[in-house]
Amino acid sequence: MHLIPTQDEVVALLRETGALRDGHFEYPNGLHSNEYLQVPLALRHYQHQRLLSVGLARLLRSHADIRAIMRDLSIVVPATAGLPVAYGVCEAARARQVYWAEREHDNEPLHFRQYVEPEPGEPVVLVDDILRTGSKLMELKRLLETGGAVVVGLAVVIYQPNPNTASFGSLPLYYLAKLEASYYADSQHCEMCKRGEPLEKAWV
Ligand SMILES: [Zn+2]
Repeated sequence: MHLIPTQDEVVALLRETGALRDGHFEYPNGLHSNEYLQVPLALRHYQHQRLLSVGLARLLRSHADIRAIMRDLSIVVPATAGLPVAYGVCEAARARQVYWAEREHDNEPLHFRQYVEPEPGEPVVLVDDILRTGSKLMELKRLLETGGAVVVGLAVVIYQPNPNTASFGSLPLYYLAKLEASYYADSQHCEMCKRGEPLEKAWV
């Protein structure tokens, strides 16, 4: 294993733990895909959480501009699924703190708990296990910036873009592996549906 795990090493670990599966899946937003990916299945094992988050911390520290502000840097997460990675990154990179946003119901905005808020000018790296649509990360970025934070980057274990992935413009994106699944807008356009392959629902 390399100091920063390679794409192949990360993919092998995801497959071995069942976090990455081949098949024919329908996501809640209606997209059909040939891959299922749920990083928490790999994060169940402490040694994997450690390997991935230390790798991501090393990747962040390899950038001089991030390394220079590390002691002041906040690691902020859009949902609790990203916390194992966030704490691992914070510890290994020796960043300042970790906090997270959440919501109780699907139709309410992301928010921080009472008295948890960024300070004006606070440098932040957004961290999550995966960047897929990016909608929550985008909402988190706006929430932080409204509070005066300065978002300096985005760091995820897996970058799996799809046709609906939000654009973060010039914001630097750091990731350990990029996975490109095939996506189809719906069953009408899906090659696997055309071949009659059995469909599994992905809950995400
Ligand atoms: Zn299909």
